Amino acid sequence: MSDRVETLEFQAEARQLLQLMVHSIYSNKDVFLRELISNASDALDKLRLASLVDKDLAADTSDLHIEIEVDRDARTLTVRDNGIGMSRDEVVGLIGTIAKSGTAELLRTLREAKDAGASPELIGQFGVGFYATFMVADKVTLLTRRAGESGGTRWESAGEGTYSIEAVDEAPPGTSVTLHLKPADTEDNLHDYTAEWTIREVVKRYSDFIAWPIRMTVERPGEGDATTRETQTLNSMKALWARSRDEVDEAEYQEFYKHVSHDWADPLETIHMRGEGTFEYEALLFLPSHAPLDLFAPQGRRGVQLYVKRVFIMADCDALMPNYLRFVKGVVDAHDLSLNISREILQQDRQIRAVRRRLVKKILATLKEMPAESYRTFWTEFGAVVKEGLLEDTDNTEALLDLVRAASTHDPAELTTLRAYVERMKDGQREIYYATGESRGTIENSPHLEAFRAKGYEVLILTDPVDEVWVERVGQYDGKPLRSVAKGQVDLETDEEKAKTEAERKDYAELLTWLTGALADSVKEVRLSARLTASPACVVGDAHDMTPTLEKMYRAMGQEVPRVKRILELNPAHPLVTGLRKAHEQGADTEALAETAELLYGMALLAEGGELADPSRFTRILADRLARTV
Ligand code: ADP
Ligand code: MG
Repeated sequence: MSDRVETLEFQAEARQLLQLMVHSIYSNKDVFLRELISNASDALDKLRLASLVDKDLAADTSDLHIEIEVDRDARTLTVRDNGIGMSRDEVVGLIGTIAKSGTAELLRTLREAKDAGASPELIGQFGVGFYATFMVADKVTLLTRRAGESGGTRWESAGEGTYSIEAVDEAPPGTSVTLHLKPADTEDNLHDYTAEWTIREVVKRYSDFIAWPIRMTVERPGEGDATTRETQTLNSMKALWARSRDEVDEAEYQEFYKHVSHDWADPLETIHMRGEGTFEYEALLFLPSHAPLDLFAPQGRRGVQLYVKRVFIMADCDALMPNYLRFVKGVVDAHDLSLNISREILQQDRQIRAVRRRLVKKILATLKEMPAESYRTFWTEFGAVVKEGLLEDTDNTEALLDLVRAASTHDPAELTTLRAYVERMKDGQREIYYATGESRGTIENSPHLEAFRAKGYEVLILTDPVDEVWVERVGQYDGKPLRSVAKGQVDLETDEEKAKTEAERKDYAELLTWLTGALADSVKEVRLSARLTASPACVVGDAHDMTPTLEKMYRAMGQEVPRVKRILELNPAHPLVTGLRKAHEQGADTEALAETAELLYGMALLAEGGELADPSRFTRILADRLARTV
């Protein structure tokens, strides 16, 4: 062994993923070839682009291609490309570690799912890429040379804990990956990947649209006993997006989606469109069937691929897709852009902005037309992201509001549209009521809903953090104000009821003033409530106050926000409240009364799913009281 060989350990997460691959949990092993070809294709795209941008780059781009070579006797399969290649550090960084966010989380889910017969969909959410080779190989050798560098790097691993890495003087430009195949085993759905027809079939099925030639040298019977060798191109190389919709079948779309998205699951919806006129473009877009793990990660992959007249320009082109549609995958081929365009210029480019506007309209229209069943899936996965659009994209507020689905007190099993809510509104109901909070359960049991329930008014139940913000921002739907059940004064009473409350208010005036003073550290006011029927008390905010959830959210993001004091509302029909009033009138011990007030406030917080400032103090007072009544 030369002293240039180093043995390194895989990063812990990478090692765990490899374990899963070696003891393969994925039944369709053919896809390893798709992954290798996909990487090779990306490498060719990158080299072509690099040579366009950097005229001094010493790289031969005259015959960019992918080559598959089989050695039946040695049972090896090699996939070779003459693309961008990797430096030594890149090999260590890209192949030896997993940089994707969400890895740890994925592995935890996988471990949990393992007992339940680990599901391949989970691994599919991640796209293990290169590691898929270890499903079929017991050793993998990678030889690579980065464009512009003179020496190369040889990497080898059996997929266990370690890999070896070695600098080599001689290496052809690009990358070759050699798989030392496991013994063929037909029972285990493991094809013989040294057989020509298997390779042909797998390439055709998964990689036909790859824009670069995928070549293989095959033997053909010649004259007499002689065989001749000829090199064939296995794929048709047709750019799917440039074809018309009826020329492409569903399976082709699906494989193309997997190539651009690195997802292993099929897309939920395919959008194939063409723009003519001032700005010519073709777009092939996909809505995934599940959210990626990095959907909310600031560094997550986003955006679609940008091509200019079939030439790949960049992956993750965020200028083409608004942030709230960051999960959309696919390709946009804009015809009239310069090949040298930079990310910064793209953001300003008039053509790109026009294309983006049309893509957004089309996506929103597609979502609106989607069959109920798929839309339900879509909304579960991406609803929370789409709602961000209500903050970002004021041009499309109407369309976005029509896409919103929300849980509601109307039907616990179904989400509702805003339209359907409005159609169900009761006579005399002028506003759309909603409640926000962390979970459906706490909201439904929260005292805030009591009066609405008693009146038979429907309340929307909103549990995504973004909900708090968009309802405020949008303010109304179809001319009906959106109104929080936990904010401001509610006006649900009849005139008769109002008169009664008015009278009660007088009786309570003294108690309320006293309580407001006693609880001054916690609340800004104590008043009588029109929203309670069963609970003694609840806490509410002023109409434009920040809600506790929002406060928490801002703090979690590291922002300083002032603590908002809320309002304690009492139910004058509850014996605890009437009792308190009597005790106060009769001049009871103010210390004991103050404790009762504190308990009342604490209970109101707990009832809405909130947190007590000092839980142990609360428990102590409560236990004392209980001790006197057991
Ligand atoms: P992904 O393709 O999703 O990024 P992979 O595991 O397939 O994940 O590959 C990891 C990285 O290794 C790629 O992003 C790429 O940078 C690098 N890589 C893999 N194969 C090649 C190749 N043939 N040529 C150049 N770089 C490659
Ligand atoms: Mg890959």
